[in-house]
Amino acid sequence: MPKRARSQLSKHSSQARAARIRRTEESSPERSQRLAEQNQRKSQLRERESSVERLQRLRAQAESQQLSINRVRNRISANSNRLAFRYDPQVDYAQQASVQIGVMNKICSNCSAKKWTDEPNGMCCASGKVCLPNLQEPPQPIKNLLTNNHPLSGHFLTYIHHFYT
Ligand SMILES: [Zn+2]
Repeated sequence: MPKRARSQLSKHSSQARAARIRRTEESSPERSQRLAEQNQRKSQLRERESSVERLQRLRAQAESQQLSINRVRNRISANSNRLAFRYDPQVDYAQQASVQIGVMNKICSNCSAKKWTDEPNGMCCASGKVCLPNLQEPPQPIKNLLTNNHPLSGHFLTYIHHFYT
């Protein structure tokens, strides 16, 4: 078994375990006082640290945050089957590699559709085989209602779905 890091040892010690149990049993004022004392100790330590120590602390903190992010990413990608049915609002899905699809910076040479970087050719117009006529301009007053150039545009755009039902 590989040797545990010092930080890991402290997390699993009997003292740390006892402290965790005490924390679950403490009342709200006790918790507030403990956190206030903890913050005071932290700020005293930070006042005494040199700029090099501060830099090291911030670097370690950033590495720890990155490790945490990577852990979440790995957890998501390892278990992403039917993920839409198990949505967890605590997870930042945007950080998952399979969710990041890049930017829409590719333009189809046949139909001028904007496409994602990895989108295959032919997905929009079957490589020029499908050619739709341009949309016609809507008649008045629909055009003014749609383009917010009519006094009732706000009402129209808010309730437009009622007009189609
Ligand atoms: Zn196209």
